[in-house]
Amino acid sequence: MSIRFDADYQITIDGNDVTAASTIDVVNPATEEVIARVPDCDKNQLDAAVDSAARAFPAWKARSVGDRKSILEAIAQKIEAHVEPLGRLMTQEQGKPLADAKGEVQRSAMWFRETAKKELPVAIHIDDAGRKFESRHVPLGVVGAITPWNFPVALGVWKIAPALLTGNTVVWKPSPFTPLCALKIGELLREIVPPGVLNVVSGGDQLGPWVTEHPRIQKVAFTGSTATGRRVMQSAAGNLKRVTLELGGNDAAIILPDVDVKATAEKIFWGAFRNSAQVCIAAKRVYVHERIYDEFSRALVDFSKTVKLGNGLEEGTKLGPIQNKPQFQRVTSLIEESRANGLRFLTGGDALPAKGYFVPVTILDNPPESSRVVKEEAFGPVLPLLKFTDIPDVVRRANDSDFGLGASVWSSNIDEAKKVAEQLECGTVWINCIQLLSPHAAFGGHKQSGIGVEHSLDGLLEYTNIQTIVA
Ligand code: NAD
Repeated sequence: MSIRFDADYQITIDGNDVTAASTIDVVNPATEEVIARVPDCDKNQLDAAVDSAARAFPAWKARSVGDRKSILEAIAQKIEAHVEPLGRLMTQEQGKPLADAKGEVQRSAMWFRETAKKELPVAIHIDDAGRKFESRHVPLGVVGAITPWNFPVALGVWKIAPALLTGNTVVWKPSPFTPLCALKIGELLREIVPPGVLNVVSGGDQLGPWVTEHPRIQKVAFTGSTATGRRVMQSAAGNLKRVTLELGGNDAAIILPDVDVKATAEKIFWGAFRNSAQVCIAAKRVYVHERIYDEFSRALVDFSKTVKLGNGLEEGTKLGPIQNKPQFQRVTSLIEESRANGLRFLTGGDALPAKGYFVPVTILDNPPESSRVVKEEAFGPVLPLLKFTDIPDVVRRANDSDFGLGASVWSSNIDEAKKVAEQLECGTVWINCIQLLSPHAAFGGHKQSGIGVEHSLDGLLEYTNIQTIVA
């Protein structure tokens, strides 16, 4: 079956394509043109998707794990075979450069394959009276997967792969800003995944709450902002849904004075600005030791001048636009407020005349710790560079946040860097690298950056209940 990627966007319910009475527009953020209209799933259609997932659940969970692993492998191959069209579509709906978009699709295939290698443990205990206690992991039922617009494929795959492997069925609701790849993946997988096992629904603002409050959904796997995460948790309380929440961050990068300044500045640039800084684990506050602050800031600004900002489909583009208009307005207002408050700009801060939601790389020179640009998650290319004097000072400032997603420490002395890392209150600390994730290592937020983890055996187990059988 050949699929058109530039048209015919339909939701997938029970293995069928479904249209809706109304549609929502999808805008290319590089051109501000409407590139597609997608179904705006109504409440009855969401109920139908959940019903089909609930109907498919008993047979899917009864299949052998080996069978489900083969299906995950087939999904990986299917996605791999469509890296090019899915990547192009992602660049058009999300804005990121084509190479990054294709990389995301390729890694998503790898994620299915690697997740399929995992085994669910069975624990056996024999008590004094010779009784055997066997604890195993059983699936939950229907999982609602809700995802944001910054990584439109990967963040869905991180939920679908473990959910399906462990025997759950899924209703995936992508962001209304970036539903196109998700809908096409739903279509692509119809011939691989049994009807009802994976449903994909697009829709407006009302659709997320319908998912989180749905009485027949047993778990919500959510990635998005902390503010929405709170609402998800409240709404999930209705039927005591399990939740995994991957939320916002305000990651500190700590640059010790013994680094190779130029090389580190380049790595920090990408750690901060990749995907136009719309990354939950981007470096969002960069603390540089005062001894190298001037040299480091010069190197960072010099490097930023070599990077092309533009339409992700154009050759040589390394940074694309902000993904949507409301986010563009939030980021530009943060820049305006920073200017109005007299903060110093090392680079950027100017409006770009071209069409599209473009914001230039903007770096602020040692703003006050209390300023919004330091305290809040900008989720756009506005980076505060901050001076620190000693380790206790920088650890205190890095930890002074309600967020606790990630952090990075940069030093030529790994032992010293590790001592700093161990004092940081967050889910992941990278040393001399950043944003590296693995399907086999737990990833999640401390404090208000989330609840639970994704990836690893721990992440997989979040899609299960424990059942103990005593014989
Ligand atoms: P968002 O919270 O606005 O939306 C995320 C998803 O939730 C979308 O699909 C949206 O339609 C849906 N939604 C909105 N309101 C809802 C509600 N009341 N109930 C249920 N669903 C609802 O986030 P966003 O602006 O799309 O994404 C950016 C945020 O995501 C940033 O804060 C970023 O840090 C975070 N993020 C976190 C991770 C992580 O792994 N921790 C990864 C990527 C992005």
